[in-house]
Amino acid sequence: MDNILIIDRIKSVIGSCDQFTPLHIPIFDDREVELLSECVESNFVSSVGAFCDRFETALAEYTGAKRAVLCVNGTSALHLALRVAGVESNDEVLIPSLSFVATANAVRYAGAIPHFVDCERDHFGMDPLKLREHLQTIGESRDGLLYNRETGRVIRCVVPMHAFGHPVLLKELTSVVNEYSLKLVEDAAESLGSFYEGKHTGTFGECGILSFNGNKVMTTGGGGAILFNDEQLADHAKYLSTTAKRPHKWEFYHDEMGYNYRMPALNAAMGCAQMEKLPKMLEQKRALASRYEQAFAGLDGLRFLTEPSNCQSNYWLNAIVLDEPNLEQRDAILEATNSQNIMTRPVWTPLHLLPMYADCPRMDLSATEEVAQRIINIPSTAGL
Ligand SMILES: *Cc1c(COP(=O)(O)O)cnc(C)c1O
Repeated sequence: MDNILIIDRIKSVIGSCDQFTPLHIPIFDDREVELLSECVESNFVSSVGAFCDRFETALAEYTGAKRAVLCVNGTSALHLALRVAGVESNDEVLIPSLSFVATANAVRYAGAIPHFVDCERDHFGMDPLKLREHLQTIGESRDGLLYNRETGRVIRCVVPMHAFGHPVLLKELTSVVNEYSLKLVEDAAESLGSFYEGKHTGTFGECGILSFNGNKVMTTGGGGAILFNDEQLADHAKYLSTTAKRPHKWEFYHDEMGYNYRMPALNAAMGCAQMEKLPKMLEQKRALASRYEQAFAGLDGLRFLTEPSNCQSNYWLNAIVLDEPNLEQRDAILEATNSQNIMTRPVWTPLHLLPMYADCPRMDLSATEEVAQRIINIPSTAGL
């Protein structure tokens, strides 16, 4: 395979590249400025304000969740989601090794231990078959709980992550989750606008989280949200995110250890503006992906990553995937593209290879280690 050819194909889609083309940048216009000004003028810029309610309602409406609860970022949303889903100190939480580090960090913030699961080779989501096999081997069901017979700890929860916006095999995963009486919390940080059989990602389990960081499909500067189908869980999450303060005219009384995780209204105002252009941005991202797909069709040695069947993906980050794991070739392509003004990135270093997570329990992670050498993300901004 010829790196010049790859660069040519990318350029045929995004243009000449006289200037630097970033991987993913946000899109703003007058509307963000307008709503931000309105927020400043209202004086309610912090965590109480009409814009927070408005953004939560818009998110719930768009995703079909019963409720959305805003947080300061996706990581805090995941931490809180795990807590309200019942994850306790010293529990194990099944997460993909192929994910952004925040997935594992949030598990640790909750006092629990990441337990790494391998990915499948088509769309790089958690592998339901391997998960079931693994739980058959190491799991022991007792008193309605699943124990890891090797560590003696409770395995409480599964956190699949929709990598690059492509939905994981939710039907198959849900059946494993039910079989073993586990809790399902989706890390949908990358998949706002992605649907599995018509249902929005993040709405399949106990709850699911979104991120509105600057590099995501849509941004609030920094921000996140938890999606719920259960009103009581949503109320509890909101309560914990606002220091668990009992409502009272003057008294400060808190009956649980809460957090200061509530998204400020300033960020929510930007979220309201971004929400209005989300459908258009998603349309543009699908069009870009389809042009990449055509441009890379017929190239030997690699494929362009397309959405899973029965799914609609937001195509957050476009990716090309080498047929064979080849670190040298991957890095040569990264080097060639980045030195030609085209920003490209490899996938994250698998989490079990990071020093602070090297000793965590895990299954065989051969697919994860292999695909980590095959993936290259290419420019993905809507409207490119
Ligand atoms: C972005 C991201 C997060 C966390 O989001 P922040 O808003 O940056 O805290 C969590 N998980 C995954 C997979 C992400 O990509």
